Amino acid sequence: MIYVPSRMGQLNRRALLRQLQKLGVASRAELAKALGMSQPTAGKIVDELLTAGVLEEIEVAETVDKGTGVRGRPGRQLQLNQSRPRLLAIQLGLQETNVAALALGIPVADQWHFTFEIIKNEKNPARTWEKSLRAAAQKIGGQNFLGVLLSVPGLVDEPSNRILFSPNIHWTEKADLAKTVRRIWNVPVLLVQEERALALGHHLANPASEDFLLVDFGEGVGGAVIVGGKPLPSPLPISGEIGHTPVLGNRRLCGCGAVGCMETLVSLRGLLESFATATCGKKNSWAQLREHISAHGLEAWLARSLDAAAVAIAGSLNVLGLRRVVITGSLTELPPSVLAHLSAAVQNGSMWAKFGSVECTAAPRRRTAGLIAIGIDRMVVPDSFPQKLSLTKSRPKPGAQNP
Ligand SMILES: [Zn+2]
Repeated sequence: MIYVPSRMGQLNRRALLRQLQKLGVASRAELAKALGMSQPTAGKIVDELLTAGVLEEIEVAETVDKGTGVRGRPGRQLQLNQSRPRLLAIQLGLQETNVAALALGIPVADQWHFTFEIIKNEKNPARTWEKSLRAAAQKIGGQNFLGVLLSVPGLVDEPSNRILFSPNIHWTEKADLAKTVRRIWNVPVLLVQEERALALGHHLANPASEDFLLVDFGEGVGGAVIVGGKPLPSPLPISGEIGHTPVLGNRRLCGCGAVGCMETLVSLRGLLESFATATCGKKNSWAQLREHISAHGLEAWLARSLDAAAVAIAGSLNVLGLRRVVITGSLTELPPSVLAHLSAAVQNGSMWAKFGSVECTAAPRRRTAGLIAIGIDRMVVPDSFPQKLSLTKSRPKPGAQNP
C-alpha cells in the first residue's frame, strides 16, 4: 500500500469535491478520470466521504459517460449530500438578517428560511440581534451542523474572525459576532466578507468564468475580484471597496466618515434620495423608481450617478487587467436601460475596450453557493481532516430526497 501524506490526502479530497461541484453528478470512474487519479485512489476518497456523509450515492436509470457520450446500464452516481442540512448560513445585512440551513449540494438560487429585521436606533443592537437569532434557532431546530458561515459587510479580517470596520453597521465592529453565534450553536463559526461569498458563488455557478470583478449594489456598493478561479489575495483585509471611491462634486456624507463616496449616489438609499429630490419629494420608493425609469427613461441625475459608478469600475478593470464585470443586486432589478448605460460607460473608460469588448453582465446573487464552497473547504475538509471526518454516523440511503 502506498503511503499518502495527510496533506496530500486533504488536497485530493478538496480536488474531488471541487470536481463534483462542477459536474453536479458523476460516477467514480468519471471523477478518477477528470482528476487524473487512479481508480483505487479516487475510490478510497469517495468511500471516506460517503462514510462521512459528505457525498451520497444516487441511483440513475441510465448512465451517460460525459466524455464519450456512451450510454450505459443503470448505475450508481455520486453527488454532494443534498439529503440533509450540514451547514448553517447567516447573512447579516443593514436592514435584516437571513438564516438558512444548507445541505452540501450547490443550490440553484439563494433561499433563506428565516428572516428578522434589524431594529434601527436600538440601544443594544448586539444583544437584540442575539435574541432574534436565538428565536431563529428555535424555528430551525437542533440540527447537527458542522459549522456556521456568517456573511457580513465591511472590512473583515477573515483569519481572525473580526470585523475591522463596517461603514453601515458600526456596532458589528465592537461585537464578537462569532462568539455570539457560538453561544447559540456550539460549532465552529466563520465570518465571510459578503462580496467575497457572492463572487465565489458566481464562480461556482459559472466555472468557465475564471477572471472577473463582481460589483454588488444594495445597501452599499462593494466588489470582489476572482482571478484564476480564486479570490485575489491582498496583503490587507481591505479589498474590493469600490463604493468608497470619491466622486468629484458629490457632497454627500458616507457611513465611512468620508464625503462624496460613490455608494452615497448608487446604493439603494443613495438612488432613492436622488429620486426624491428629482421628483420634489413626490416619489421615493423603489417600485416608483422602476416605473419612473420605464416611463421617462434615464434622467440626467441617474445617468450621472451611473457614470460615477462606471468610472470606479473602469478604473479597477484598468488596474487589475480584467475584462469581465458581473453586476449583482438592486441595479439588476431596474429596467435594462440602467445596466446598458452603466455597461457603455464602463466600456468608455476601460483600456481593454480599445482591443475588444468588456463584458458587463447582470447575475443573480448566489451567496449561499459561495458560503457552501467556503464551508466545504474550511469545515468539511479543513487542515485537521481526517480527525474531523466523522460528520455523521449513518450513511444516507441511496437516492434519498430532501426531507
Ligand atoms: Zn465611504
